[in-house]
Amino acid sequence: MTHRSPTASADLFARARKVIPGGVNSPVRAFNAVGGTPRFMRSAAGAWLTDVDGEEYVDLVGSWGPMLLGHAHPEVQAAVQAAVARGTSYGTPTEPEVELAEEIVARTPVDAVRLVSSGTEATMSAIRLARGFTGREVIVKFAGCYHGHVDSLLAEAGSGVATFALPGTPGVPRSSTDLTLVLPYNDRAAVTAAFAEHGPAIAAVITEATPGNMGIVPPEPGFNEFLATTCREAGALFISDEVMTGFRATRQGGWGLDGAVEGWTPDLMTFGKVMGGGFPAAAFGGRADVMSRLAPEGPVYQAGTLSGNPIATTAGLATLRLADDEVYAHLTKVGETIKTATSDALAAAGVPHQVQSAGTMFSVFFAAGEVRDFVGASAQDTAAYAAFFHSMLEAGVYLPPSAYECWFVSAAHDDRAVTTVLDALPAAARAAAAVSEGS
Ligand code: PLP
Repeated sequence: MTHRSPTASADLFARARKVIPGGVNSPVRAFNAVGGTPRFMRSAAGAWLTDVDGEEYVDLVGSWGPMLLGHAHPEVQAAVQAAVARGTSYGTPTEPEVELAEEIVARTPVDAVRLVSSGTEATMSAIRLARGFTGREVIVKFAGCYHGHVDSLLAEAGSGVATFALPGTPGVPRSSTDLTLVLPYNDRAAVTAAFAEHGPAIAAVITEATPGNMGIVPPEPGFNEFLATTCREAGALFISDEVMTGFRATRQGGWGLDGAVEGWTPDLMTFGKVMGGGFPAAAFGGRADVMSRLAPEGPVYQAGTLSGNPIATTAGLATLRLADDEVYAHLTKVGETIKTATSDALAAAGVPHQVQSAGTMFSVFFAAGEVRDFVGASAQDTAAYAAFFHSMLEAGVYLPPSAYECWFVSAAHDDRAVTTVLDALPAAARAAAAVSEGS
């Protein structure tokens, strides 16, 4: 099996670039961070992707998180096919959306949820609700945490911890980030300083439950609890973004790693990915008194033509109902095997690296030493990762095309899939060593 000549992918990419900016509908898919031709996939089943050239890959991206059960799970597919036969969108309330909301409320500490269609919409709406509820406007976020492409959250730190942020991309007006503070992650002193300076104006702190968008950077023990307490004392809301970690890091999401143990709850949470079962579905939820401020019950406006879409909610519900303890035990086992083998292979080749985990989630940094914030994550040897990535790809393993991402496994990663990954690692580690700065 060779994956070296992606002829059909290259042809499609050339066509795509003429009609879609960069040839892709979400930037990281373009392989800009690793170089080469993005693979256009034709189909997926279980742990495997098949590209338009007919090559198969073990999938360690899982559609960036949603495919917890693997691709084309027969029971999810059957539920979706039955739902499609009943029509695809009614613009009225439906039973599956109630059932999905009940399932989310049962598994997490939220009292109520509103369903939306993307993680970006969930965080954007949670922020509006936090501002509407508190009557305040300032939002605190952390460098390296990604919450979707919401204008006010596409922000870069200002010149000091208590100075307002700057737009993180052209197109975001200064006025959108004038009310955002960007702090270093895991830095309690920075949070304290920001609240000392701006406390009465802060509507909310938003953080990933356990950051996964700079690679996995777990909160230091007690950090989330500290944020929850700081917010409560200052009359601000604590928003835990679980779009990536929800129903993935543990059965209860990232909150299962600390809040469930320490006994605190976020005021608002956001969900996406797994809860949509591979369809566009997301949600935000939280305390009953906060959620009741949302229209039509309260004055804070929020809406969506396809919100709670019956196909998406059916897929999400089927996925969550199938995601039992056995599934998470399997993710843990497969993850441990792949993490250990990757670390062993990189160590044998002399490539500096760091494997970091949060529950069943993990990522591999091509950096020496523990990574506890975005500055640490940015110190990676991205050239070594690119060489590693391409060697794995040629051996039939589809890793995230960026060094800053988690590796996602699924309930469908069986021995054949895991063996394919393990067999590919030594050569990939040597390829990384050949360009590595540290070896
Ligand atoms: N929040 C987090 C933590 C995410 O990881 C993402 C996407 O990766 C989002 C929000 C945005 O979700 P979406 O891409 O569905 O808009």
